[in-house]
Amino acid sequence: TETMPRFRFDNSYVRLPGRFYARLDPTPVAAPKLIRVNHALAEELGLDSAALETPAGVAVLAGNAVPEGAEPLAQAYSGHQFGGFSPLLGDGRAILLGEVVGRDGARRDIQLKGSGPTPFSRRGDGRAALGPVLREYIVSEAMTALGIPSTRALAAVTTGETVLRERALPGGVFTRVAASHLRVGTFQFFAARRDEEGLRTLLDYAIARHDPAAAQSEDPALAFYSGVVRRQAALVAQWLLVGFVHGVMNTDNTSISGETIDFGPCAFMEAFDPATVFSSIDHGGRYAYGNQPGIMQWNLARLAECLLPLLSLDEEAAVDKAQQGLAGFAPAFEAAYHTGLRRKIGLATAQEGDMALIQDLLGRMAAERADFTLTFRRLGTEAGPRTLFRDPSAFDGWAESWRARLAREGVTPDQRRDALNAVNPAFIPRNHKVEAAIAAAVEREDFAPFHEMVDLLATPFTDKPGFNSHAEPAPPGEEIRQTFC
Ligand code: AMP
Ligand code: MG
Ligand code: MG
Repeated sequence: TETMPRFRFDNSYVRLPGRFYARLDPTPVAAPKLIRVNHALAEELGLDSAALETPAGVAVLAGNAVPEGAEPLAQAYSGHQFGGFSPLLGDGRAILLGEVVGRDGARRDIQLKGSGPTPFSRRGDGRAALGPVLREYIVSEAMTALGIPSTRALAAVTTGETVLRERALPGGVFTRVAASHLRVGTFQFFAARRDEEGLRTLLDYAIARHDPAAAQSEDPALAFYSGVVRRQAALVAQWLLVGFVHGVMNTDNTSISGETIDFGPCAFMEAFDPATVFSSIDHGGRYAYGNQPGIMQWNLARLAECLLPLLSLDEEAAVDKAQQGLAGFAPAFEAAYHTGLRRKIGLATAQEGDMALIQDLLGRMAAERADFTLTFRRLGTEAGPRTLFRDPSAFDGWAESWRARLAREGVTPDQRRDALNAVNPAFIPRNHKVEAAIAAAVEREDFAPFHEMVDLLATPFTDKPGFNSHAEPAPPGEEIRQTFC
């Protein structure tokens, strides 16, 4: 038999008190087969990337073998799901193998998702269906290539077993890499139990891992909280700038690191509409595209509540500090969002009236059902995006003011085109293409469309003439209106 791939684990979470997690190994699966290994990421992590593709490597990626140095565990956490609090969630279908310190010096979690039941599984089977595994692989890597902080995909395998959802579906195991799996919900777990010692231990751990500078500040708890607020504000701004709808922004899906995490019913908006919702379970539109900044603030307020006893022994002072920290959201969000919007229409400077100009465009896009991604991308072309508007003259009217504004910048047309194309992707994971890639894999064991999408989306700002169908919105009748976790 071959030797197992070496990970050089350096585990810290398992050194925390036992009530932070449950130790257990993954549950083996019947007949694992490799779908894909992310070799570039494996290299970044200092892993032996070729070894991951051997049978011994695939056994690790399926949870059938535990590599040397792994100390597998399921993390405990709570969470507000669609506004309602669940005091005990936790990793019900995921197992942290351990942590590795990559070539860049950064510590990252290596987690198997779909690796069998844990003490946190409740009524769940601990498994993942192949479809969501492929969706997370495609979208989390696409987000990364778009320059948006995200958990990563290290690998995906099929299990040779079926999982029972509305129907029997092939199973998969996903290997996720994350700066950590600490969530707002992790803090809520200890706060809900009035476990102040646990909270303090968690705070120290989170500071050491994500914001070591905060430890040196006069008020480490506030500095830490403000840092989470700023990271999440910047993250949501980046989601909006690419038309991303997360779909399930529960507090257990809101990371402390500032990475996008949990790619359940997520999807990219096509025709611009701030009310866009895809998730089949989001009946009230709580997590609609345009609600995301407000929801993120709500989630961060829940984090602040957990931190109150650590912010000050004086309750009033603690609330003041929490409010001060949360007040950092709006300016951080606006700075990132407004700068991003300016860049999306090719502005290199900030001038009076820019936001009104952009709002005017967005309003016309909404009224005329223009595709979000393509409208911006085509601002960098000779022909422009006018034909994307039901009534093209709606764009022409705006373009006049836009050209007048562009004339007030000392930028050549070539420079402007390059700048536009560097921020406006040609390719995003189009929902109907994601669904088609999943269907091919699930129904025909054909993984070619999945691989094609992953490869294509690795360079989303580069035009590829042979891939028009990936650049364009779904043809009429093929639009995806609902996504399922
Ligand atoms: P999610 O909707 O993926 O954010 O998961 C919310 C909670 O449900 C987490 O505690 C998950 O671990 C748990 N969960 C989701 N799917 C399963 C499953 N198939 N088996 C066990 N637990 C699950
Ligand atoms: Mg334990
Ligand atoms: Mg989750």
